[in-house]
Amino acid sequence: MLRDDCSHEKIGRLPSIVRCPIANVREHREAFVLTTDPAWKAVGDIDINTQHPRYVQGNTQADMAALADACTGEVVYGIGGGLAIDTAKYVAAAKGIPLVALPTILSTDAFLTDATGVRENECVRYLLSKAPDTVIIDMEVLCNAPPAMRASGAADVLSIATALWDWQEAEKMGANPSNEQPTPQAIGIASTLLQTLLDNAREIGRGTPTGLKLLLDLLCMEVQLCYQCGHSRVEEGSEHYFVYAIENHLTPPEEGGINAEPLLHGELVGLGILLMAVLQSQPWTQYRHALECLQINYFPAVIARDAIAETLINLSDYVAQHQLPYTVATSLRITPDIAERTIQTILD
Ligand SMILES: [Zn+2]
Repeated sequence: MLRDDCSHEKIGRLPSIVRCPIANVREHREAFVLTTDPAWKAVGDIDINTQHPRYVQGNTQADMAALADACTGEVVYGIGGGLAIDTAKYVAAAKGIPLVALPTILSTDAFLTDATGVRENECVRYLLSKAPDTVIIDMEVLCNAPPAMRASGAADVLSIATALWDWQEAEKMGANPSNEQPTPQAIGIASTLLQTLLDNAREIGRGTPTGLKLLLDLLCMEVQLCYQCGHSRVEEGSEHYFVYAIENHLTPPEEGGINAEPLLHGELVGLGILLMAVLQSQPWTQYRHALECLQINYFPAVIARDAIAETLINLSDYVAQHQLPYTVATSLRITPDIAERTIQTILD
């Protein structure tokens, strides 16, 4: 079909999205269901042919590979938030079988993407897995989810605020590889997505069908924009690197720590956005206002202030050690004093 000398760059695409009530789902194939306890309760009497669902906990490749080994079934279902669906993507790809994702909260963009984030060596690595073949959206389930959770994926659109700044700064410093240079069009499209989120944060945070449909659309457009760019610099910058770094200061679940009740990705990203926006000298209060409207708790009580300060102070070493792309975190030397003032600023 293609000549050999034709440069072959495949552009990813979004999964097929079906909007229908869960009561309309009829799955007769033998299904391997990956979910969490609250998500499984939220979908109630869904008609899936499954022995018993598996509750996901671990976020390393070994955890996911163990589930893939245990997988019997003709189809994988990922039901819940980011971790359940990311794990389902990994298992379905490993087994070469179809995948249906059923997000019960819009807590990340994971149900739209073709990669699985795994924790490795104190950082996050994205493994190519597969995008769901079908995403089922039941608006009623999403609207009825807990207010602090249902729209927390908006942080993955709000993160354009700091990631775009980082990407443009990297360009000024000549730090972008030749295939990752920003174009005015990509910047313009990303800015429009961000502005649309800021303008509609209250509606989204209220969890109305209109608001959550808009959030779904924004997540779709953000993911498609990353595919068109061939990387995620429009939405992943220093705010995400801060998240990867601070995760190492949180006690793992097997030690009965706070991750037993996992923090939402969006909460940590929200915190990262505010801190980085202050360090970037951006007009950051609009982002805090947006997080409040979205009902995203950007300062979870379980995160010690000391852990935030320590993460900030060590952030430039962390990004250097993990060879993360150039951002404000690369260039700034954050002293204990600056860290303390930055934290105090966003809390005032
Ligand atoms: Zn994210």
